[in-house]
Amino acid sequence: MTIQNDKVVLIDYTLNNDNGDILDSSVGREPLAYIQGHQNIIPGLEKEMLGKKVGDKFKAVIQPEEGYGKFNPALLQDVPRSAFQGVDEIAVGMQFQAQLEDGPIIMAVKNIDGDTITIDGNHPLADQVLTFDVEVVEIRDASEEELAHGHVHGVGGHHHH
Ligand code: ZN
Repeated sequence: MTIQNDKVVLIDYTLNNDNGDILDSSVGREPLAYIQGHQNIIPGLEKEMLGKKVGDKFKAVIQPEEGYGKFNPALLQDVPRSAFQGVDEIAVGMQFQAQLEDGPIIMAVKNIDGDTITIDGNHPLADQVLTFDVEVVEIRDASEEELAHGHVHGVGGHHHH
């Protein structure tokens, strides 16, 4: 069986940035489970997965355009400290969820200058060239329920309680 759309795929992976820093890894954890063709993972990696089989090990280098996007300066905003009502302490790097017209977005505090807080709606991995070391652990057909939900149930996947 090879990886095609609507297959559930389990992978072990390690993600490095351009500097060789490890950003994320499944080593020591459950493998990552996703459904091919359902935008569960970044487009560049999903493309590389197509046609692979169990036991395949490979390296995938993903450019920002096919990863978490280019850095968009329009997503930087200055807001007054008073916008953070109910927050005891504001620190650089702090993440929070904001409601925009298009839905919720994760933002981070980028800079603090007195009462002016600069917030950033870019993905933390925007602009980064990402290198994945991947090993395909398992490939199986997705259940109808998984396809309807658009995510994997069971090992490495989503758990409904
Ligand atoms: Zn579900």
